[in-house]
Amino acid sequence: MARYDYACGQCGVFEVVRPIDAPIHEPACATCGGAATRVYAPPAITSPHSVLRRVRDAAAASAHEPTVQHHMPAPPRRNAHPPNPLHARLPRP
Ligand SMILES: [Zn+2]
Repeated sequence: MARYDYACGQCGVFEVVRPIDAPIHEPACATCGGAATRVYAPPAITSPHSVLRRVRDAAAASAHEPTVQHHMPAPPRRNAHPPNPLHARLPRP
């Protein structure tokens, strides 16, 4: 099923749901029965999980509701790799 928007000159925009393979016809207005014309709009292609959308939503939210940090972030680890056991046998100063 697909949603199509139509506009009536008197009542405004209304939505028609029909199968994609149904023949195209101009439906009458659901309210007044008058002639309606198809309204074309850009498709909504964005994914709700896209990185761009999350970044954009976070930026918009921080403009009005900045997050409050209650503690300092942990410092980066200096030695992220496990120690090499061969280093223990090296001479010490
Ligand atoms: Zn109408």
